[in-house]
Amino acid sequence: MNMHSVARWLAGSLPNRCHLCQQPIPRGRGLCAYCLADNDPGPLCLCCTRPLQHAPPWRCGRCQRRRRWWPKVVSYPYHHPVGYLSGAIKIQHQLSLVQPMCEVLAHRVRMLCQQQALPPPLALVPIPMHPLRLPVRGFNHAVIIADELGRQLDLPVWDQLVFKTQSSVPQHERQGRDRHRIPRELYQAAPNQPPQSGLVLVDDVITTGATMTAVARALRREGHRVEQYWALASALARPEMARPNQPAVDPGSTP
Ligand SMILES: [Zn+2]
Ligand SMILES: [Zn+2]
Repeated sequence: MNMHSVARWLAGSLPNRCHLCQQPIPRGRGLCAYCLADNDPGPLCLCCTRPLQHAPPWRCGRCQRRRRWWPKVVSYPYHHPVGYLSGAIKIQHQLSLVQPMCEVLAHRVRMLCQQQALPPPLALVPIPMHPLRLPVRGFNHAVIIADELGRQLDLPVWDQLVFKTQSSVPQHERQGRDRHRIPRELYQAAPNQPPQSGLVLVDDVITTGATMTAVARALRREGHRVEQYWALASALARPEMARPNQPAVDPGSTP
């Protein structure tokens, strides 16, 4: 029996546990219902994703002055007990976190659509990964998240509409201003596709928003309409802007 077989056997023989409180929970789920209920971050600004004291309005006072903006719906601020776990999906392959964190996002989307705070989403487009990076990680986390959201919200997932043309340093490993510089040609929409509207870009974490902006530009150059961005967590709000008693963890140091 090799090491992988031993690890699989060991994992299968132990009870599945909540990532936060460690109590046993049904297999396939990474968080228990109590931790999800206790850690609800409440309403978040649709533009900068900072916590709001109350809603509606769904944008904070500062963001209400912005003319050009696209709605961002996220499950959690990144600097939040559950939000920082979003990085563990990609880095530690903790795929059991996908379903419960997508449920939080899907619930937010349904509620915002009911209140007509969001344009109706028509299709999900995961942020693409370069083909050379795919064998290294083994999966594109954004596709897995988009597939789960598509299942929960009954929306199609189009993962061949836009491509990454070069391998690049992951956004969470970049520093300072470098995080905002994304070459124009890094993403390209598939040629000769009929123009689509109501598109939603999906990723695990919005770090600076630069990646989503670059992918949206590539799609718009081919006539598609990207209308909103969704992610399991957002690091746009700095730790001091998050709610009290929440740990300050940088996305680059996600466990
Ligand atoms: Zn728990
Ligand atoms: Zn705001």
